[in-house]
Amino acid sequence: MRFKRSLVLGAAVTCLLLEGCRRGPGARDVEGRSLLLAHVHKLASEIGPRPAGSPGDRAAQDYILKKMTETGLQARTEQFDRVLLSPGTEVVVSTANVVGILPGGQVGTILVGTHHDSRNAACPGASDDASGVAVVLEAARILARRSHRHMLVFASFGGEETFGLPGSREFVRRWDGPPIRLAITLDFVGTGRVFVAPFPTSPELWANRLLRQAEREARTGRVSFDPWLTIVPRLVPFDFGADHESFLEKRIPALNLSCQFPDWTYHTSEDQPGRVDGNTLLSARDLVVRMVEGADARGPSTIDTDRGYLPLPLFGYPFFLSEPLLVIAAAAVALLGLATLVRFRRELASLSGIAEGLRGVLVSFPLAALAVSGPFLAEKALRGISKVRHPWYAHPGFHVTGAILALAFTLWLSLYLVRFLRPSTLSGAYLVPAVVLEGATAAACLASGRADLAFPFVAATGAMLLAGWSQYAIRRFALGILGAAPLLSFLSPTTYRMFLELSGVALPRFALELAAMALFLPWFLFLQHLACTPEALYARPGGPLFRPASGLALLFLAASAVSVNALRPSYDEGHRALVAVRERIDLQRRRAEATFSSLETLGPVRLAGLGDRALPDAEQARIRVPFPALDLPGLRVDVESPGGDEVLVRIHGAPQGAPRRISLRFRSGKRLQVESGGTWQSVKEYRRVVFPAGMDLDEVFHFRRGTSEPLVLEADISYDSDLLGLRPQAPFRTFRMESRVRFLKRLL
Ligand SMILES: [Zn+2]
Ligand SMILES: [Zn+2]
Repeated sequence: MRFKRSLVLGAAVTCLLLEGCRRGPGARDVEGRSLLLAHVHKLASEIGPRPAGSPGDRAAQDYILKKMTETGLQARTEQFDRVLLSPGTEVVVSTANVVGILPGGQVGTILVGTHHDSRNAACPGASDDASGVAVVLEAARILARRSHRHMLVFASFGGEETFGLPGSREFVRRWDGPPIRLAITLDFVGTGRVFVAPFPTSPELWANRLLRQAEREARTGRVSFDPWLTIVPRLVPFDFGADHESFLEKRIPALNLSCQFPDWTYHTSEDQPGRVDGNTLLSARDLVVRMVEGADARGPSTIDTDRGYLPLPLFGYPFFLSEPLLVIAAAAVALLGLATLVRFRRELASLSGIAEGLRGVLVSFPLAALAVSGPFLAEKALRGISKVRHPWYAHPGFHVTGAILALAFTLWLSLYLVRFLRPSTLSGAYLVPAVVLEGATAAACLASGRADLAFPFVAATGAMLLAGWSQYAIRRFALGILGAAPLLSFLSPTTYRMFLELSGVALPRFALELAAMALFLPWFLFLQHLACTPEALYARPGGPLFRPASGLALLFLAASAVSVNALRPSYDEGHRALVAVRERIDLQRRRAEATFSSLETLGPVRLAGLGDRALPDAEQARIRVPFPALDLPGLRVDVESPGGDEVLVRIHGAPQGAPRRISLRFRSGKRLQVESGGTWQSVKEYRRVVFPAGMDLDEVFHFRRGTSEPLVLEADISYDSDLLGLRPQAPFRTFRMESRVRFLKRLL
């Protein structure tokens, strides 16, 4: 009876943790979906690429203005040409925000924002960010028919893809309506699940709570509260930006909604409408409507500063464990550890027990390594067969299944061997080192101030300690399942892959193997401990499982899974490998070079522009390239000194090859005075970033120098194109091209 109850409890917890039964939007709201997709199609396909200042950008503004007006919003465009980001930095970009208003009371304003520009003239920007525009337009249509207390503002910002978020900054600067209580921006809501974006910092608790409440009402089944999303940005800097940051700077509660998007489409020609999922758009629309309605009814969100919390999706529902709660849990487990020490002091202090424990760990170490090797060996076999570095990137779900089957086989093998090698039959000889290992990991995380990372180890230590107090093997087993449960919520390969791709952080060699071993060894010891309890030794549970035939069956299943995965293409039209290409041209030294980086091997890449030169079988490569026969930089610099210490600098001309942006930086040994908007400002250095969008450049600078130190111009002309004409080619690769021309010029 007790056996059954414990087993049912364990099984139920596991099933619920895997959050199996979530429903999607299904066939409902066909009309809503087609309206949303029509906006994406219009912007990304009919209008096409929309870099700031381009004709596409203006066509997009006109379209959004028209749609907002049709919906009944008080809509207008707000043109801006120059935005002063700081006294020393100015952005020149001729574009506009489109703003639509639903008037309300004077309680305040709730804003929903997006951006209409696309990264460059080659990028259609369907997901980034026609998807956001579509959701804003359709959320406005729904909210326009409902009553609300706040003023609701729907904004599509210009120039988000340029530099320093000039559109939203300019909007915040000019805003003179009722104070903004909440800003929700959308950037990338076209594929997969929707979440609060993990930048500039990990999602804040209040923002995740707002989204959770909206999901409770909207029930889209397409929301992610993955613990990776909060933990990773706390560990590695995540260099992304979105328009909500302009509001955060002014201490306005703001969040950005994003989605799981594949890196190989990001800012490339592959960001096409065909890759946008209407169901994700629909979910984002419903969530935005509920978030706005919730904030409108309940009043503004209270910003809390608890950044150390941990989201734990359990029972298909996210729990947010606050930092104080995590610390209390750790303290409770530490007390339990102390009580255990006192209660079992005699057993723990026995010399023979310690010797057996050491022997247990020493023998368990290679056996645990054998058990954990299965998934790695399967992946290695796959790499050999499919000749790619990361075969699992294309179909993470299938590969996780294969990895679990491979693990089942190697675990079986090591448990089979244990029966002949068993170094000790004293169950405590395994349990004590297991607790010590988990406890030490938890303590190390806590000592480095990471209560969130510590939690899975705290839970494991607690469960293992409780197991030590329990008399029945099956109860100990159930406790083990409960203790391991928090780890399961980290089993989300899609998010894991997204971070590897987007962070650009390459894992050190053997990092995964070592991490897997560190996670697995205590649990292997725990299993050994279970097998050595008097009950288990007597009853020999799972006897038939340890027949060679069972092992062979597991091996067959694992091999079949690997074969199936090997048959599936790793890269195809639906999932390609991204190669980031950076070309650098240094006019001073007359040097040109290109660097290539990818998560996949560069082996198949050929450079058509360099006589089909091949790249090495590596993930990074840097090559010297003949200096190009281009008229660079194609700009003229005129310097005039009208008298005194004043200097006029004019930079004009038509730079070669349609640059995306031109950064002009002036510096002198001492501080400079620069004229900006009719006033003089004293700056250490002065930078103007110009987005010419196909037009000729003509910029005039007016300086005053109180010194005879040289005045130096540092120019940096960036392109989103293959300026060196390398023309890289390879099957199922997407090349993200970026080139830069740099030069220094002493003006005085
Ligand atoms: Zn964007
Ligand atoms: Zn972007």
